[in-house]
Formats: sequence, C-alpha cells, structure tokens
Amino acid sequence: MGRREALNAGNIRPMSEPREIKSYRARWIVPMDRPPIDDGVLTVRDGVILALQPGDTARDLAAEDLGDVVLMPGFINAHTHLELGFCRGRIPPCPLWDWFDRLIELNRRPDAGPLRRQSIIEGARESLEAGVTCIADISRSGENAALLSDSPIRKTCYIELISGAKSPPYDAHSLEHALAKVRTRAQDDRLRIGISPHAPYSVTPEDLAAAASLAAHDGCPLTVHVLETQDERDWFAQGSARLDAYLAKYGVGGGARRPGGSALKLLRTTGILRHRPLLAHLNYVTDDDLAILKKSRAAIVWCPRTHAYFGHAPHRWLDMLNAGIPVCFGTDSLASAPSLSALDELRFLHAAHPGVDSMTLLECATARGAEALGLGQRLGTLTPGKWADFVTIPLPEVLVRDVGRAVLETQHGVSGVWVNGANVFTRR
Ligand SMILES: [Zn+2]
Repeated sequence: MGRREALNAGNIRPMSEPREIKSYRARWIVPMDRPPIDDGVLTVRDGVILALQPGDTARDLAAEDLGDVVLMPGFINAHTHLELGFCRGRIPPCPLWDWFDRLIELNRRPDAGPLRRQSIIEGARESLEAGVTCIADISRSGENAALLSDSPIRKTCYIELISGAKSPPYDAHSLEHALAKVRTRAQDDRLRIGISPHAPYSVTPEDLAAAASLAAHDGCPLTVHVLETQDERDWFAQGSARLDAYLAKYGVGGGARRPGGSALKLLRTTGILRHRPLLAHLNYVTDDDLAILKKSRAAIVWCPRTHAYFGHAPHRWLDMLNAGIPVCFGTDSLASAPSLSALDELRFLHAAHPGVDSMTLLECATARGAEALGLGQRLGTLTPGKWADFVTIPLPEVLVRDVGRAVLETQHGVSGVWVNGANVFTRR
C-alpha cells in the first residue's frame, strides 16, 4: 500500500479545502474565546473562520444543520511520538530507565524501521479520528515530516537530538544536517519543522547551546523533556547513581553535570529558555523551578495518563496554572498511553479532579495548546480570522447547564472533524 493509500485507509478523507462560503448550525458552539452559544452558526471561507453568531440572528443563512452536537475547536496534542505506536501494549509499567531499556530493544530489532513508519501514518489517522487536529510530534529519524506531508493533520514535526546516541542526530552538527535535509520539504500552514534536544541529562550543555542557537537562527520551534523523574532532579542537585549507570550504559549525555545545579538553570544558561520552548513533563519541580518558569516564556506540556502509567508523584499543574505558567496537555506515545486522544486525557483528568473548572481543562487542550506551540494567533479558538479547525461531539441531552462538563462526562467520541474548513472525518 502506498503512502497516500495508507493515509486514506480507514475514514480519513484527503484534504479538499472548500473555497466557497459554508455555514454550520450546531446545538451548542463552544468557541473558547467567549461563553458557549446555545444554538449557533459557524461560517467558514477559504479554510478560515468568517463568522460565529447565535442561530436566531442567522435564520436567513443556508446552514448545514449538524444537529445535537457541541461544535468546538479541534484538540491539540502537544506532546507525542507517533513512531513508537508499534510499542503499544508491549512494555508493562516500570521505572523510566527500565522502560527505556525495553523501548530501545524494540527499536533496535530488524523490523523496527517499517513498523515506525507505519506507526507514524496510523498515528496521524487515529489522532484525527479522535478529534486531534494539531499535533506536536517528536521523531528520532525526522521521518515524520515526509510521511505526514499528505495527512490533513496540522503538525509540528520535531527532530530529536540525543548526544552520543548510536543513530543521528547525536551532536549539534548532525542535528543541523538532519534539519537541513528535512527542510528541503516545503513547510506550510499544516507542517512546521522543529528541533527537540531530548533532555538536559541526555544532551550535553554544548549541544543544548548549539540547539538554542539553531532555533534562534532558523526561528524553528523547540521542545525538551525536563524533570520527568526524581532521579533527574537528584542528578543535577547532588548526583544519581541510577541515572549515571543508565547514561554510561548507552554512552549518551556526555557525563555528569556540575553538582548543585538544576535542569532548568542549565536550560537557562544554555539559552534554551530564551526561545519560548515547549517543556514536556516537569513532573518533579521545586518552588525555585516554578519561579524560573514563571519568569521565562516557556510553556509546559503535561501528559496525565502517561504520568499515571509511570506512577509519578502528584503533578503541580494546578500550581503552575495558578502561577500564570502556560500549561497544555499531550498524550506522549502509545508505548505509555492507551490512546492518542486529547479528549481521553481531559476525561481522565476530569474524573480525577472533578472540582477543576471544565472550561479550564478544555482550554488546556485547545487555546493554551495553540499558544504553547506559538500558533495562538491562528488556532485554538473559534475566532473569526483563525484557521477553521473544529470538531463535533454528540450531546443527546440538550438541556445542559454546563456544556463543558457535559463534553467531559458524555461517553461519546468525536463525530466530525474539520481542518482548514475541510471535513476530513465523519463517524459513521
Ligand atoms: Zn516524550
């Protein structure tokens, strides 16, 4: 099966952006930049939102009636590794270093290359069917950009650098080379190329600084895994035999850092924090770390179900939100999360924290996700002028008082998905 056929297998339609004006009526519209509209009409043209109005002011419009659904911005999955989809269900929960051992072993098998490529294509399709219209996807090989170029999904494809790794990019020079190679592919509204120095313990300070310069020079987005484990925090503060052993085993990371330091201070001194990075996890932050984050222009992406899979200590995402630090959500890969659905993450969090305002949760997977990716001007809310990326969720119970809560509590999945105004998925 060719790439295009593979992309279109299942229910995802190829992009065909409508040029004409088209209006949709929905029982509820949740724009995320203003209160929900009970009976609303959304009008799009040339892939962009043209207008949003209450239904009673749009009676003369020939609108397609989508029925008893909530129409809202497409979800943003701000942290995933689609290429690891083939590891789904193959690694039982265990400490991160043992999990990495197993992951590396699976990825070094002879059949891993084709499986990774297939996983990227299938992952994009699964994401769209779950209502995720925009992903931030990290790949070691950088193959995601080419493989997903025909997919309707909006994507930032990051190339991941690990200093000293067996396969490139393993240093600043090979990262630059990999970036140049991937960048021969034209970028557009739906494809951006970024770089991801893996983590401050697995990338040398020199390579971190080089990645920061590259981001500054090329203006490309940057994402880094930070403070995923207590071991990482200890390693910077006073050393960690466990992390030392892991790094020595694979020959990555370039040796110990200066004791008494911290991961975030290293990201600050190497220039990473100056470039509005998207920092993944931050599972073990101190008050000092929160102060650094607050001063920086970094955004945080947290992966709630992967967090639970690894059994990490409670995350301080609410402290971060209360401190005004931007937080959005990701799924991480299928090697640690049960699905690629941002809505599943929200429902999981809502069940665990029923007291958290439902709109705050929805915002983290839409408007805040867009801001975190530097796309807030074009994405994340149903504001006229933004890209027409939206989804519908059936809501048979129409007399709802809190529509955000209803989205999180109904068992229904996404029923329709539009990217750039094109209907790319309809659940049959
Ligand atoms: Zn990750």
